Amino acid sequence: MSDETPVRLGTWPTPLEPAPRLARIVGLEPDDLWIKRDDLTGLAGGGNKVRKLEWTAGAALRQGARTLVTSGAPQSNHARLTAAAAARLGMDAVLVLKGSPPGVLKGSPPGAVSGNIALDGILGARIVWAGDVDQAGLGAVLDEVAEELRAQGAGPAVIPFGGSSVLAARGYAEAGHELLTQAPDLATLVVAMGSGGTMAGLVHALGADRVLGVDVGAVTDPGQVVSDFVAGLAGPGAPAAHALRLRRDQVGAGYAELTDAVTDALTVTARAEGVVLDPVYTGRAMAGLIAAVAEGDVRPGQRTVFLHTGGLPGLFGHTAAMARAQAAVTDSSTVHSRP
Ligand SMILES: *Cc1c(COP(=O)(O)O)cnc(C)c1O
Repeated sequence: MSDETPVRLGTWPTPLEPAPRLARIVGLEPDDLWIKRDDLTGLAGGGNKVRKLEWTAGAALRQGARTLVTSGAPQSNHARLTAAAAARLGMDAVLVLKGSPPGVLKGSPPGAVSGNIALDGILGARIVWAGDVDQAGLGAVLDEVAEELRAQGAGPAVIPFGGSSVLAARGYAEAGHELLTQAPDLATLVVAMGSGGTMAGLVHALGADRVLGVDVGAVTDPGQVVSDFVAGLAGPGAPAAHALRLRRDQVGAGYAELTDAVTDALTVTARAEGVVLDPVYTGRAMAGLIAAVAEGDVRPGQRTVFLHTGGLPGLFGHTAAMARAQAAVTDSSTVHSRP
């Protein structure tokens, strides 16, 4: 069998739902704005990583691997879904995460396991804490761990950072075609850009003009990353970095830091449509969509689709976002006292 056939891990197609109240609030016509629910892919909390893992984990399985190994931030959605994919495929998972285990550092407050980390544990993944390292340092620890696993005969396959590679991006090329059957008149698809595979696949399927990426600050040169993946899919003639629609105005103080624009986007989306976004990816993407409408880059009368890429478990592992939620509960609470 070829290595180019995906293994099915999700439930397809994901729904495309109207968002008329949100549309009006952000300055579009009620029928303009729709949400593509890739948070509902199935598999342990769902999210965009499922489509990418169908290709990369599928290839690993066919090559005889028995352990999926990957790396990420402590609240990595990709790591959680790699653990889930491994379970589904009868493989082991080893996750190399930045930072230290919650609550075990001497002198640190007794941290509780939360969000994606809690799910990693439930899913049976082994976590290797890489400490306070940068991207290159994380990669070095990942290589060491993979080498050890190989020496032990555990049959490791390394899934790249954020799950993105040219092969992985094919999952989002598929998603682009799936979306076109649901919304043939698509003008703009808004998507968070992290490690780039998602946006790259979509650009390959839909063209650079119809995909608006919102950078979350996970890589230093997002335009080049996306354009290299698209070139891997399309060969020469792929759009150059400067030809991509990519907003970099929602990064704020960095990847894990909550901004006011993101808090507003989360709140307005939840209250208008009953749809909850996450503080790192989809919250930034919605803040970028709102800014794009305000600037006239996304206009009324055109079909705009927001790609909900998941990330809800990360919300429950994000201290600042939980503090905002706590404040909202306190503000809204009425204490009943007997007369
Ligand atoms: C990883 C992730 C993204 C970004 O996808 P990339 O392919 O890494 O760019 C967007 N949203 C969520 C919720 C994610 O977990």
